[in-house]
Amino acid sequence: MAVYVVLLGPPGAGKGTQAEILSEKLGLAHVSSGDLFRENIKNQTELGKLAKGFMDRGDLVPDDVTIAMVRERLSRPDCAKGALLDGYPRTPAQAAALSQMLNNLGGKVDVVPYIRVDEEELVRRLSGRWTCRAEGHIYHEVFNPPKQTGVCDVDGSELYQREDDKRETVQRRIHVYLDQTAPLIDYYRKEGSLVEVDGAQNIEAVTQDLLAAMPAVAGGAKA
Ligand code: ADP
Ligand code: AMP
Repeated sequence: MAVYVVLLGPPGAGKGTQAEILSEKLGLAHVSSGDLFRENIKNQTELGKLAKGFMDRGDLVPDDVTIAMVRERLSRPDCAKGALLDGYPRTPAQAAALSQMLNNLGGKVDVVPYIRVDEEELVRRLSGRWTCRAEGHIYHEVFNPPKQTGVCDVDGSELYQREDDKRETVQRRIHVYLDQTAPLIDYYRKEGSLVEVDGAQNIEAVTQDLLAAMPAVAGGAKA
């Protein structure tokens, strides 16, 4: 049976970083709505053109196009064993649509790790984040530097600072998160799928806590 994990937490909490590590360990697809939008922008698709304005301002892309994009992604063959969702859902409507999609695929949201990090630390993390052009691998100039400045360890591509990691946009994104996404914490808590993890620790410790917090999923992990 396919397994679906939703990583919840504010921008900069470490969802992408942990999803990269856990998708490898658990053999699940990494589905990042932000990465999908950035890929569409890079390829200059209609969806990319539409999403760019919202993303540059730090606002959410409208639910209808976001839901359709993720539905298509989850139907691809690499999601047959399940997926780690990173950055989706971000609104109650997206959460309801996800339940429906997974129901149609014969699955459900199995576990929702909520990665808690305070606002001051989020700003520190996002202002030092460097992202790889080719595949979105994530670094931090102090907390997780690449071996060679400006170059991705994994694929050798150029690292860049995201336009929406500017201080003013970061403040806007945190505001949008508190307003539109934070209510999902209670939504999943009531459903019984929420597990809380202290995201203020180093990357390895957060990974260990995430694995410990979802024993049923981690039990199927590759060695
Ligand atoms: P999100 O996907 O939740 O927005 P990222 O995974 O992109 O967050 O992480 C944001 C920044 O913080 C990146 O620069 C990343 O390298 C760094 N980072 C992630 N986890 C940690 C951690 N536990 N400690 C310190 N820095 C971290
Ligand atoms: P992220 O890579 O998760 O930090 O997302 C970057 C930006 O992409 C967000 O600030 C939004 O503009 C957009 N985005 C990503 N995921 C979603 C989503 N689930 N719903 C709406 N907008 C999203």
